[in-house]
Amino acid sequence: MAYDFDLFVIGAGSGGVRAARFAAGFGAKVAVAESRYLGGTCVNVGCVPKKLLVYGAHVADELEQAAGFGWTLEEGHFDWGTLIANKNREIERLNGIYRNLLLNSGVTLLQGHARLTGANEVEVEGQRYTAEHILIATGGWPQVPDIPGKELAITSNEAFYLKDLPRRVLVVGGGYIAVEFAGIFQGLGAATTLLYRGDLFLRGFDGSVRTHLKEELEKRGLDLQFNADIQRIDKLEDGSLKATLGDGRELVADCVFYATGRRPMLDNLGLENTGVELDARGYIRVDQQYQTTAPSILAIGDVIGRVQLTPVALAEGMAVARRLFKPEQYRPVDYQNIPTAVFSQPPIGTVGLTEEQALEAGHKVQVFESRFRAMKLTLTDIQEKTLMKLVVDAETDKVLGCHMVGPDAGEIIQGLGIALKAGATKQQFDETIGVHPTAAEEFVTMRTVTR
Ligand code: FAD
Ligand code: NDP
Repeated sequence: MAYDFDLFVIGAGSGGVRAARFAAGFGAKVAVAESRYLGGTCVNVGCVPKKLLVYGAHVADELEQAAGFGWTLEEGHFDWGTLIANKNREIERLNGIYRNLLLNSGVTLLQGHARLTGANEVEVEGQRYTAEHILIATGGWPQVPDIPGKELAITSNEAFYLKDLPRRVLVVGGGYIAVEFAGIFQGLGAATTLLYRGDLFLRGFDGSVRTHLKEELEKRGLDLQFNADIQRIDKLEDGSLKATLGDGRELVADCVFYATGRRPMLDNLGLENTGVELDARGYIRVDQQYQTTAPSILAIGDVIGRVQLTPVALAEGMAVARRLFKPEQYRPVDYQNIPTAVFSQPPIGTVGLTEEQALEAGHKVQVFESRFRAMKLTLTDIQEKTLMKLVVDAETDKVLGCHMVGPDAGEIIQGLGIALKAGATKQQFDETIGVHPTAAEEFVTMRTVTR
């Protein structure tokens, strides 16, 4: 049967654009449907605007440090409207770049919501298209627990477009987004409280990292409330919001921001017209090659709920394009040792096993841990400490994990990700000459076993 397209991609986000562009480059006839914004979550309401706001908040640190370096500055004034307008302009520029990338690769771009009407058929704006392969790359959406008053809360989607910076913010959650936005709001001047339901936030991260970040955030004056859960939200007469906690306490703020995880975006996708099944958590079930339970339909990125990071969606998109249209270049995605950063203030960089995971996996573990005041702060009164940690297999000397909390952690951890992928040993770390004077050199000069 002749199809309209070789590949029909639903969603022009990180994974969908990568798959579409490369498939077209390999000679396939490709269409992409996008209902909302080109570039998807990462470009529009994720990584990119988030990082721009983090930079904005970080300026406060630079201003605080300036006096130690001899600078006298007039009292600074921050204007949220300017930051958001500039951020929006940059996002629009990126939207245009994504459009050109797709069109210049020969991809047919369809604007509108796509709905599966069969195993090889998609409907967009009343028009039906057939395709030999269909790729679902529809991403995710914020999930807010079902409590009375949840409609009064916002999520990251809305935070990027707030008219004003709220004066008082309650951030709910203890994952990447909660910690990053708590830093943004607080850094820009809002009185910020972070509420997390468990004992300590960032579950799954290395224990030393979690504790260290907690201490540093508290030093900065962030109000951290653990074992705290909001039961209901009410609007008060003056327009502010009252959050009632499980233990009966009441907190009043101008904004309640939820970052309690994301669900797969499957709304009105028409999965019922196909044989596509979901896994126990509600994400699209795929095999090792991203094929769903309907053989002509594949899925990648946040909608399969494996690792919800842009570089992972990109790698999966690439793998699909190669497998379908350039099989001789196909290589499976390596999910081991994925480096990642949390752009908190200070940021976290991490790659490989945490100490807890290494012990659980049966390794005999040696830990090297260092805490120090970054050189840049020595001329200031700021007492922030940087944490660096190596988790090493005592028997093979292989470095199993690298963890950092401190300035530029995301930048530093990328290179260590290559070292871990190459299977570097602690001895090879030790034999690597440091770059002096940097914080990063500490990763090759830690000699004393801490544990
Ligand atoms: P998406 O990028 O979400 O793209 C899906 C696209 O599909 C969207 O454009 C959507 O409009 C479209 N779509 C959905 N349904 C349909 C339909 N039926 N028809 C047509 N189009 C449809 N990751 C990092 O690596 N680093 C970060 O710093 C980072 N920061 C983040 C900050 C925030 C606030 C958030 C929310 C996420 C962040 N992420 C970060 C995660 C990252 O954004 C995602 O992992 C990534 O965007 C997933 O890509 P995707 O292709 O699976 O989906
Ligand atoms: P996460 O899954 O990282 O964190 C969700 C948090 O919300 C957890 O602390 C979780 O607690 C808590 N939570 C979940 N349900 C409830 C509930 N009903 N009530 C109270 N708390 C709840 O999700 P995020 O929304 O922060 O981010 C989504 C994903 O996006 C991240 O996992 C990451 O993959 C990606 N991302 C990456 C970034 C980066 O690379 N820098 C930045 C932002 C997002 P518990 O731990 O107890 O389950």
